[in-house]
Amino acid sequence: MMTQQASKNEIFRLRFAPLKMTVKRNARLLLDLIFPIECLGCGQEGVWFCPNCLSNLPLLPARHCPFCGQKNHWGQTCQACCQSRALAGAIAFIPYANPVIQKLIQAWKYQGAKNLTQPLSIFVSQGLDAMTLKLREQSRALESGLSQIRLATWPALPTLILSSQTTLVPVPLAPKRLRSRGFNQAEELALALQAKRGYNLDGLIKRTRHSAAQATLSGSDRLTNVKQVFALTTDAASIVNKNFLIIDDVITTGSTCEAIARLLKGSGAASVWALAIAFGHPL
Ligand SMILES: [Zn+2]
Ligand SMILES: [Zn+2]
Repeated sequence: MMTQQASKNEIFRLRFAPLKMTVKRNARLLLDLIFPIECLGCGQEGVWFCPNCLSNLPLLPARHCPFCGQKNHWGQTCQACCQSRALAGAIAFIPYANPVIQKLIQAWKYQGAKNLTQPLSIFVSQGLDAMTLKLREQSRALESGLSQIRLATWPALPTLILSSQTTLVPVPLAPKRLRSRGFNQAEELALALQAKRGYNLDGLIKRTRHSAAQATLSGSDRLTNVKQVFALTTDAASIVNKNFLIIDDVITTGSTCEAIARLLKGSGAASVWALAIAFGHPL
């Protein structure tokens, strides 16, 4: 009886041994088998976000000051806010209230869907292309002397957004959060944008202490939360007179980007903007 039981156990163990190994080697693959990947837009199997849904995701860029919400053309910081802020503006391409982008960003950050970096970076890159087109349209209109009145209300797009000389600075994750998430989404986005558009990329900033997740805090608590959280990892020589784009996934109150912009401006940076996928400021 004992022998029979032992052999049953043995058969059971042998039968499931490969499964156990698979789990150990690649738990993610097993999860994909149990819960197949489906497009977060239309449900099509095999992709996190299909090309068709990507082409239907609307480009609705932020057209307001990132701090007070005053309407403008490119998301630049308004004159009044410029008095006390280091961040010159924030570019983002869709309101976070859009249910599809919300699903994508949450799956990307919290469900380990690292492959979403590709469609999300394509989306941002398309947004930057649309800005380039507007810039060309603007200079053509200026050359032909047409629409001068309209253009007077349309300030020039800062060249640092489109210049390959601009340095990308991804918002760093705290080591603890990096370990649990497995990757820094801002860094992945910055790497993809660098590959597509030829920007410089530098890990100029590090976190000096762990802060509470911004998403869990109210607006007024956010700036306090990020104060003195960041520090430079390099000397000012690599910052003086250079232009920077801080890369984040979502810009809400602008506090995180402002804290980094203060550091960079304080070390002699020429101009610092933020670039994100989505913005959470009320329209
Ligand atoms: Zn789809
Ligand atoms: Zn403002």
